[in-house]
Amino acid sequence: MLKKRIAFRLITIILFWHLFPTLSHAVENNQGIVELRILETTDLHADLVNYDYYQTKTNQRVGLVKTATLIHQARSEAMNTLLFDVGDHLKGNPLGEYLARIRGMQKGKVHPVYRAFNYLNYDAIAIGNHEFNYGLKFLNTALKGAKMPAVNANVFSVKKNKPYFAPYVILKRNVVDLSGRHHELKIGVIGFMPTQIMSWDRANLDGKVFAKPIVDAAKEFVPVMKADGADIIIALAHTGISNEAYRPDTENAVYYLTQIPEIDAILAGHSHSTFPGPIFQNLPNTNLESGAINGKPVVMAGAFGNRLGIIDLQMEHRAGKWKVLEGTSQTRPIADDNGLPLVKRDKRLFKLVKREHEETVDFIRKIGL
Ligand SMILES: [Zn+2]
Repeated sequence: MLKKRIAFRLITIILFWHLFPTLSHAVENNQGIVELRILETTDLHADLVNYDYYQTKTNQRVGLVKTATLIHQARSEAMNTLLFDVGDHLKGNPLGEYLARIRGMQKGKVHPVYRAFNYLNYDAIAIGNHEFNYGLKFLNTALKGAKMPAVNANVFSVKKNKPYFAPYVILKRNVVDLSGRHHELKIGVIGFMPTQIMSWDRANLDGKVFAKPIVDAAKEFVPVMKADGADIIIALAHTGISNEAYRPDTENAVYYLTQIPEIDAILAGHSHSTFPGPIFQNLPNTNLESGAINGKPVVMAGAFGNRLGIIDLQMEHRAGKWKVLEGTSQTRPIADDNGLPLVKRDKRLFKLVKREHEETVDFIRKIGL
């Protein structure tokens, strides 16, 4: 009996000595290593429902009610996540038209696009060029219903010579590292859009706002964000990806934003493309496997909710400083190439926007569109 007990103790001690250094080593290595998943929708163009209003039938290739399911999945796979929309979300389909031109935005009413964003808990959104199509008054009234900050750094008020919207926000988030410890991370989020708004929306904007070149605005505000405490900077860049020679009025400025050292990740949009994706195979300094341009993680999630964009950042928090160690990007589709659905729709979200969806369908039937 005694022998047995001694043997058991010996085994326990041996096991302890073997296991403990490995365990403590693993914990030590993972301490301060934080994985942050950044999710993107862009260019939704008011496609909340998987529906084609022109043909009045279901369309499995579009709709935030579908992307929402991908958002829930992507969140469940990660410890720390953020969700952003990169703009052009209010206009582009009959639902958007019906809300703006027929029903109008009454004070205190929440636009269904922002109702959907509130439900999905977006952390911040960017203003896209199409947000101006119904005029500044409509946009400002609609934005009052959005619970998350809306950012843009390159549209300035003529009267005040200051950014018309909040140029950036610093989001304070509690993140968990791989060893289970909590850290506070200050995430700087900045927004941009093409300067072409001044000709595209002259009637709505002339004399009220002016647009600065995207890269100039980035260089103006990035040092301010750092001074304001941003540990990392994410750009909500409502602008496409091209390596055409730089011009101040370049419409697609992502390539040049990747060259600004303090920007850590770029969520792109506007051109309705998919990045990483084969159409960018000839873009210089681009890795389509990891989804990086000039070493920076970039993602563009198509349009109309057809894809969810994902950037995974691995970061290290040591001695009070944050460092991005690695970044990869990918997009996930809601349907396959034949238009067959890959996910079900989020029923709760559909219920939240059903009324305006049905009113739009009724309206179309009435006018015989
Ligand atoms: Zn756009």
